[in-house]
Amino acid sequence: MISGGDSADLRRPIEGLGHAELTAWLDARGLPAYRADQIRRWLFQKCATAFESMTDVPRELRQALARSFVIGTVTVQHQSRSEDGTVKYLLRLRDGNVVETVYIPEEDRVTLCVSTQAGCGLGCAFCATARMGLKRNLTRAEIVDQILEVQRGCPEERRISNLVFMGMGEPLANYDATRGALEAITDAHSGMAISPRKITVSTVGLLPQMRRLMEETRVNLAISLHSVRDEVRSELMPVNRKYPVARLLECCRALPVPRRKRITFEYLLLRGVNDLAADAAELAKRLRGIRCKVNLIPFNPHEGSGFHRPSEDAIERFGEALRARGIQTHVRRPRGEDIQAACGQLYHVAMAPEDGAGNGHVAVTTE
Ligand code: SAH
Repeated sequence: MISGGDSADLRRPIEGLGHAELTAWLDARGLPAYRADQIRRWLFQKCATAFESMTDVPRELRQALARSFVIGTVTVQHQSRSEDGTVKYLLRLRDGNVVETVYIPEEDRVTLCVSTQAGCGLGCAFCATARMGLKRNLTRAEIVDQILEVQRGCPEERRISNLVFMGMGEPLANYDATRGALEAITDAHSGMAISPRKITVSTVGLLPQMRRLMEETRVNLAISLHSVRDEVRSELMPVNRKYPVARLLECCRALPVPRRKRITFEYLLLRGVNDLAADAAELAKRLRGIRCKVNLIPFNPHEGSGFHRPSEDAIERFGEALRARGIQTHVRRPRGEDIQAACGQLYHVAMAPEDGAGNGHVAVTTE
C-alpha cells in the first residue's frame, strides 16, 4: 500500500467500474442512478477522454469525478499498417507493459482482436506470445480501453462491429476481468452495445471457466483444439495434460450452447504434425455429436518456431476430408501477415517503465 504523503495518483480508471459500482458511487453522494447511464454513454459510446466534455453532467459532478477517477489506461506506442488494411497496434500500459491489438477491416464488418493478458503463461509450442511468458493479467479497464483507444483513431463509419478475444493471452485465465469487460462491451443501454453474437472468446479449453462463460454470457466460444491425439496435443499445448482431449470434448457436449449456435474448433495446421488424412478422419470422428464448426488455421510462421505451414493443396485436402464427413469447415485466411499481426505472431518484449511515478511496478507472475 502507498501511504499518505506519497504523490502517487490513486485515482482509478472509471471505465473499469461496472454499472452497479458506478451507481453505488453516485448513490453514496446522494446522486441519482441515471447519471451512471449518462457518464457511461460518454465513456463507451462517445469515447470521451475528459470529464469536462460530459456536457449533460452537472459541473460539480464532473469535478468530483475528476478527483476520484481518470479515463484511459493505454496509449498507442506504435502502429503498423498491412497491405490488406489490417492495423497492428502496440499499446502501452501504465506500468510499461505492452500488448498488441489488431484492427481488421472487412467489407461488411470491422473486427478488433483484443488481448487479455500481457504475454501468456500457457506455453503453446507454436505460438509467439508464449515466448514472452506471462507478465500479468490485464484489468477490466485495460481490456475495454483497447477498443476505445482504437475506435478514437478510426473513422466513425468504420466503427468496430465485431470482437475476437484472440490477441495475447488466455481470456479464461483472466476470467473476472474478461467477464467484466464484456459487461461494458455488450450493454446495449449505456455500454458499447456490441451484440454478444458478434463476439468470440477463444480459449485453450479451461473447462470450469468455459462452463461459466457459457452460463453467464451469450458470446461465441472458440476452442483451440489443434489435435485430438493426446500425445500430439500435449506436446503442442501443455494445458492438455490438465484437460486431455476426452475430458475437453465431453465438457463441450454438455455445454449449454444455444440452439442455433455452434462451438468453433480452431485447428492449426502444422506440416507433418497434424495435417494428414488420418488426422482429419480422427478429428471428424471425435467431433461427432457436437454441434460445431471447424476453423482451419494455416500455421503462420515466426522466427525460430521450428514448425511449417502445409502446402495449399494439403490444406484444401484436409478441409475437404472434414466436409466430406459432414463437418462445417472454414479455412481462415491470414490477415496482416506482412506486419506479423496474424494469429500466433503477436510478440513483444515488455519495456521497462520510463518513469518512477507511482505505477512503475511490473508484476511478473509465474505458474
Ligand atoms: N489463448 C487463447 C486465445 C489466443 S487465440 C487460445 O489459444 O485460443 C490465438 C489463436 O491463434 C489460437 O487458436 C492459437 O492456437 C492460434 N495460433 C497460435 N500461434 C499460431 C501460429 N503461429 N499460426 C497460426 N495460428 C496460431
